[in-house]
Amino acid sequence: MSSNDPLQTSLTRLGSQSRKGSDSQLAPVSNPEPLPKELAIEASTPLQFVPGVGPQRAALFQKLGLRRAIDLVFFFPRSYQDIAPYQSITELEPGIRASVIGQIVDLDQRFSFEGRSSVGILLAIDGGGYVRCVWYNQPFRRQQFTHGMRVIATGVPKPTGVSFEMRHPETTILAADQPPPEAKPMPVYSLTDGLQQRHVASAIATVLEQLIETVEEALPDSIRRAAVQRGQSPGTVAAGELPKDEKGQNLGSLLGIVQSLRWIHQPGSIEQANEARYRFIFQELFVYQLALAMRRHRLQHDKPAPKIEASPMIHARILKRFPFDLTPDQLHAIEDVRRDMAQDVPMNRLIQGDVGSGKTVIAQYAMLNAVASKQQAALMAPTELLARQHFSRLQKQLAGSQVMVELLVGSISQRERTELLQRIAIGTVDLVVGTQSLLSEHVHFESLGMVVIDEQHKFGVQQRANLRESRVVPHYLVLSATPIPRTIAMTVFGDLDVSILRDKPPGRAAVHTYLGSDAQQAKWWAFVVKQVQSGRQAYVVSPRVDSDPDAEVLGAEQVYRQLIDGPLAGMRVELLHGRMDGHEKQAKLDAFTAGHTQVLVATTVVEVGIDVPNATVMTILDADRMGLAQLHQLRGRVSRGSFPGYVCVFAKQGVAPEENTRLSVLASTDDGFRLAEQDLQMRGPGDLLGTKQIGLPPLRIADLVRDAEVLGQARELAQKIIAMDPTLDFPEHSKLKRQVTQKHGAVVSLGDVG
Ligand code: ADP
Ligand code: MG
Repeated sequence: MSSNDPLQTSLTRLGSQSRKGSDSQLAPVSNPEPLPKELAIEASTPLQFVPGVGPQRAALFQKLGLRRAIDLVFFFPRSYQDIAPYQSITELEPGIRASVIGQIVDLDQRFSFEGRSSVGILLAIDGGGYVRCVWYNQPFRRQQFTHGMRVIATGVPKPTGVSFEMRHPETTILAADQPPPEAKPMPVYSLTDGLQQRHVASAIATVLEQLIETVEEALPDSIRRAAVQRGQSPGTVAAGELPKDEKGQNLGSLLGIVQSLRWIHQPGSIEQANEARYRFIFQELFVYQLALAMRRHRLQHDKPAPKIEASPMIHARILKRFPFDLTPDQLHAIEDVRRDMAQDVPMNRLIQGDVGSGKTVIAQYAMLNAVASKQQAALMAPTELLARQHFSRLQKQLAGSQVMVELLVGSISQRERTELLQRIAIGTVDLVVGTQSLLSEHVHFESLGMVVIDEQHKFGVQQRANLRESRVVPHYLVLSATPIPRTIAMTVFGDLDVSILRDKPPGRAAVHTYLGSDAQQAKWWAFVVKQVQSGRQAYVVSPRVDSDPDAEVLGAEQVYRQLIDGPLAGMRVELLHGRMDGHEKQAKLDAFTAGHTQVLVATTVVEVGIDVPNATVMTILDADRMGLAQLHQLRGRVSRGSFPGYVCVFAKQGVAPEENTRLSVLASTDDGFRLAEQDLQMRGPGDLLGTKQIGLPPLRIADLVRDAEVLGQARELAQKIIAMDPTLDFPEHSKLKRQVTQKHGAVVSLGDVG
């Protein structure tokens, strides 16, 4: 098959090199043979026409989302592999990774009876001695090597008596006259089946040579300098270190685009790679923060909102309607809201507070303040259940006042609805509570001044814009019980101001969280019964409505049956799940709120908003199937009153809950913000709440956990730039603007929706 003539072989290799680009990941790429004019690569050249790629490999690249030549230029390595320095045979130590250079003096391929293959090459190492390299079940390796080839092998040497063996080493084939390259970090790219690192590296080398000088710098000098002015640490460079040039001099500026592209793909050292990565990490975060800052600017300056000033008298009258003293955090948040509403710039404020921290108070204040100024207010909740609850609380609170409150949900009759819509349109309804149906185009307000969105994360960011009216826009207040780590908040809610409710209303007793094993079930149910008999109420949460025999998970329905026939026999137990219709759900909930139902078996519909202070015990089944944020929300249901709460989480049958890190973390702290940070560390932002749900941008190189500091810096700079140049119309910002619109156009233009 292969030629045994070393000279012949190296000639073929040299020949192929000039056409295909280098076969070797380490081969110098600085002087490829100039391509004939008609073969020159442009940014938009389809990959199959890039020399050395061809239609087959182009199809593989396409699987990675790479179609055009320029896509390869911006296909960044996942990581780098530092090549170990070359060693002579006497320097090799068993078990310690090393690189050797030698010539192939023998090749073999064997097949076992089961069809397993092994391919071996024997290298005569420069300076003497032999190393055998061997690959199992990679028969294609045989085709890569021929007698006489010079090869660098990097791997872990294992002594075999007379010499050493490396199993599955990385290899680099050198051209005959090619001097061994310096030990440089090798980029490691994401691959797909059939594609190898060297295919990617060589294709990138080819396009890089042709295109690198044509890539325009999007970050003007001033921004590149400002980006490192405070000397904050790049994600991968040691803390406090400014990017340095090759001589170790502080650059005082982000690396330019051409150098960055060169260094990210073909670094001379790990430091160079890190510096190039830093530039792209910064750029990615910066461009997104620019989009957010532009959007925020637009929300604030596009259209005015009504100025709603709370006179001291109105202020006092609203506060008097609360049957308790407000916590200091609630008072602060109310001051924030009061100040915002007094401006004709629309308020866009997020109230963040753990479950039970009393966010509704802030919403009620804002709405009543609007109504006192002859403006209408709307409150949007994620579920009908929650909307109804807000509605009845408001009705109670406003009993005896002239404020007209109405409920607009999907389940009201067509006639009622038509009539209600008319009254909303002529302004005789002051305050409307509803679900998404408030977003319907048929809902017109006479003068909508205030919109509250409860449990924001259930909606997604996009819908916020839909409620915008034409002439003036309302003030917005967004409530979120999902404690969001700072970095995520900066990214998702980057266009919002934030007030935080950290302290809880006084008199709240603690919640105790237990991890229950299968063996402890009986004891736990006995405890539940005792609590219920002493007058308290209990929840049992089961994540699914139906059983899932494959996963050995019982549905809420089955759990309910087992409980009423078993440990909870004789108690007043009811079942509540999301498939019941609105009225039935409401009836079940009312019975529980009134204390008639003692134990409520439910799916996670109870996660949001239910407020029954007398409920103190919660059993969560199959908790290993739930996210930390969700579990914490659930737990919040039993810390609403002055009795201590007890939560016991059980994992899937046969799984000890303490084996599940998430559940252990849940049991270890009651602070939602700390939990959120931990969750982020454990799972990464993508999984935190469901990226799509909360609208995190897809990040290619930045990492919100690792690069938190860079994010802060990018955000600060983005805000400064937008304050100066709100629509990025300065000539030096034109390329940045193009990136912002290309990547995040939807974010920027949100203000226009609806
Ligand atoms: P969440 O932030 O979860 O929406 P809520 O606004 O529903 O919390 O408040 C939880 C419970 O705490 C409600 O029963 C509410 O009436 C009560 N509450 C709110 N603020 C205070 C306060 N300052 N003092 C006493 N109870 C309060
Ligand atoms: Mg709430």
